[in-house]
Amino acid sequence: MVSGETSAATHYSVAHATSHQIIKARAAKNTVDPWMPYHFHVEPEYSASGHVDDVATVFLTNRECPYKCLMCDLWKNTTDTSVPVGAVPAQIDFALKRLSPAPHIKLYNSGNFFDPGAIPVADWPAIADRVGSFRTVIVENHPKLCGADCVKFQTLLNDRAGSDTQLEVALGLETSHEATLATLNKNMTTRDFADACEFLLRHQIQIRAFVLLRPPGVSELDGIMQAIASVRFAFDCGVGCVAVIPTRAGNGIVDEMQQAGTFQPPSLRSLERVIDETVSWNRGRVFADLWEIEQFAGCRECAKQRIERLQQINLSQSILPAIDCCDC
Ligand code: SF4
Ligand SMILES: [Zn+2]
Repeated sequence: MVSGETSAATHYSVAHATSHQIIKARAAKNTVDPWMPYHFHVEPEYSASGHVDDVATVFLTNRECPYKCLMCDLWKNTTDTSVPVGAVPAQIDFALKRLSPAPHIKLYNSGNFFDPGAIPVADWPAIADRVGSFRTVIVENHPKLCGADCVKFQTLLNDRAGSDTQLEVALGLETSHEATLATLNKNMTTRDFADACEFLLRHQIQIRAFVLLRPPGVSELDGIMQAIASVRFAFDCGVGCVAVIPTRAGNGIVDEMQQAGTFQPPSLRSLERVIDETVSWNRGRVFADLWEIEQFAGCRECAKQRIERLQQINLSQSILPAIDCCDC
């Protein structure tokens, strides 16, 4: 438990970077093909029904997100202009032909599914045809873009006879700490997030949330405490599933902040503390984001065991015995 802990020197000063500064710090984008997804895979995930199910993820190539969040690196695999009508369905076809069958699918587009400049509205029927047989379709979206379009797409998914596909919208909460959230250039308050959740749930659309562990300007201990509070806030808003993502450099501006001493990546131990605390509540699923997680490990001796333990917690949603290590 960390709720009773206090931290001394809490916030490092962090300037509010503007969209212009964030863009200026970037390196070049990767070369992408509008007719090809930039990645796709199938991974197991502990499902809402309490089973470990396969989930297909198609990382769609499309126009860059209009928001410029401080920590975001998703722009790397995007186009500068909207992709042609027909390209997104073709990308889904390409991936589904190569992936093993799965009951759930994530259509992640490095931005907002309900941004018409990203996913052409004219493609929705073709997309629904391709994914309307999955039990769950999960798309990413900014809280401020959650409105009638989400309901329309949910209806399209279920227009097929006998289809009861559940739409789930993945929202970046990032943090419920209002002052930290304001530094992230996300153009959102916690009120916006709560309003989006209320709207989606009223229309029987499920929600997952992304929470950052230790964004720039936050100390290690405050990072833990803010992440735990953020998971609690997400559950209070009716979110069914939260992914906790250790903040990392790599997008330009966060690297600059790291060099200036206003950003330090969190440790693997901190991720364990957040997961141990929030999974124990049994309020909903909590996943540790384990992508390239080795970089956060401070001790070579136990890193593998700690990562394996987090993987097992992800897949069981049960707390496992802590790892003891003589070296750390
Ligand atoms: S809204 Fe999401 S995709 Fe867009 S810049 Fe922010 S984090 Fe990146
Ligand atoms: Zn160790």
